[in-house]
Amino acid sequence: MSFPHPETVSLGEGWEKVVFYAGVMRQLLRTRAIGLGIDLGTTNTLICDQDRRILLNEPSAVALDKRAKKVIAVGAQARRMLGRTPDNLEVVMPLRDGIIDNYDLTCEMLRSFLRQVKSGLQLLGSRIVICVPTETTQIERRAVREAGQALRSSQVYVVEEPMAAACGVDLPVSEARGSMIVDIGGGTTEIAVISYCGIVCSGSVRIGGTHLDEAIAHFIRRRYNLLIGTMTAESLKIELGSAEMAGRNERSSQVRGRDLVRQLPKLMSVPQKDVVEAMSELIGMIMDSIKKTLERTPPELAADIVDRGIVLTGGGALMQGMSQRVERETGIPTHVTENPLLAVAHGAARLLKDESLLDRICVRSL
Ligand code: ADP
Ligand code: MG
Repeated sequence: MSFPHPETVSLGEGWEKVVFYAGVMRQLLRTRAIGLGIDLGTTNTLICDQDRRILLNEPSAVALDKRAKKVIAVGAQARRMLGRTPDNLEVVMPLRDGIIDNYDLTCEMLRSFLRQVKSGLQLLGSRIVICVPTETTQIERRAVREAGQALRSSQVYVVEEPMAAACGVDLPVSEARGSMIVDIGGGTTEIAVISYCGIVCSGSVRIGGTHLDEAIAHFIRRRYNLLIGTMTAESLKIELGSAEMAGRNERSSQVRGRDLVRQLPKLMSVPQKDVVEAMSELIGMIMDSIKKTLERTPPELAADIVDRGIVLTGGGALMQGMSQRVERETGIPTHVTENPLLAVAHGAARLLKDESLLDRICVRSL
């Protein structure tokens, strides 16, 4: 750290004093500036520091008092209220399909999350890396950056999610060799072939875990006349879901819902084959998108991917049989990374430590 030496500045004039102390303050802020990585996901928001420590991992949810127009809860507390609120309260997921659906609520949620991990003073002059889906528009990316700047952080970098995920699982993103990453999140599935710090080709489908939950709820309603909530559908997916149709899908799970014929609460057992069938069309669309991206991949990079394999990240990667299904459909070895839900946040942390890499891959021209 180099301060201007007091003897080299004349402190006689008032304005010179101001310039001098402003310089000192700037240097001080720069040396103590903290770095935060934010994975602003459709389903979950994660904040981590530059040492990959997860400081916050909360659902991207906001509970609103519609009459008072006031946010009453965020994160897990708000998500617990989903489907359980009286008329005057509403639970909103401000990010939908991986894009910012409600800018004001996204900012408010981010501010609230950041207040939980750092005080306003600590955030002053901080460096923040925010990860966004590839398909977001320039306007949406600018909105995300402004949300970060509204938090008084001096430098906000926007990075595309698959690139951050690739960094988070320590793929050699800066080498001129192809790596393929597939991030199956809550609202989107992002596919990217990365080489030499850039996304060479990518694919994105607005299909993710939340759509699978909806498909399960819809299927149960149609087949059994039973209305179940999205949280119940998600539990069914996590417990019984499988990306592979074949196999002995014989387990079952008890669910509670409302019988649409008698209009009364009902408990029933749902077999695994129904859950698998309900999701099969959407999972097929995810597979098609992976194959289409491979078809567009230049041959040299395709050869690298065959050697190195495909890496799966995001919550959807945890589904039973997902890597086997991708491997079967593409013929390319596929594996799920160790902590698929943390990959993007870990990538943001790696970038905070590696300034030259961050400089090469962050989104410009916002
Ligand atoms: P986003 O980045 O969009 O917030 P995440 O990568 O955090 O999404 O993944 C969240 C999604 O992963 C949710 O839809 C959740 O239901 C799903 N998920 C989490 N665990 C599992 C699992 N074991 N099997 C299937 N889906 C899962
Ligand atoms: Mg994600």
